[in-house]
Amino acid sequence: MTAVEPAHDAAANLRLVGMSEAPSVFSRIVSGEIPTTLLAETDRVIAFADINPQAPVHLLVVPKTGEYRDVVALAAGDPSLLAEMVEVASSLAQEHAGGDFRLVFNTGETAGQTVFHVHAHVLGGSLQEGSLGGA
Ligand code: AMP
Repeated sequence: MTAVEPAHDAAANLRLVGMSEAPSVFSRIVSGEIPTTLLAETDRVIAFADINPQAPVHLLVVPKTGEYRDVVALAAGDPSLLAEMVEVASSLAQEHAGGDFRLVFNTGETAGQTVFHVHAHVLGGSLQEGSLGGA
């Protein structure tokens, strides 16, 4: 599955703080500008493999809307969308990682967030607990 419907919320991707910001890499994937292979898609969410995997299975679940910069904003603004992301993450883990998975939302620069369009990292495949929180 490769086709993605155009972002219907492009304006929401531009946070007006004096000047417009460029759309995030994930908004550009949602719009189809950057190609990817979709592993799952719902009306509100897409999922694809992380380009720089940190685990045997490393997938990303991304809302089509770029309105929420992190999971805190998402939980406050649209909890049902957050629940949908978790549901998609669980389905992906069933399909690609035998069912068990670690769900990571980096939140803020010093926690490792580099893309400020909320996304969940779905990590799986013989993970060791000791790797949690590595710098
Ligand atoms: P974070 O550091 O939590 O903001 O996560 C951003 C993630 O996006 C990183 O793990 C990157 O490897 C990943 N990433 C960036 N660009 C792409 C891309 N074009 N396709 C897939 N993953 C990407």
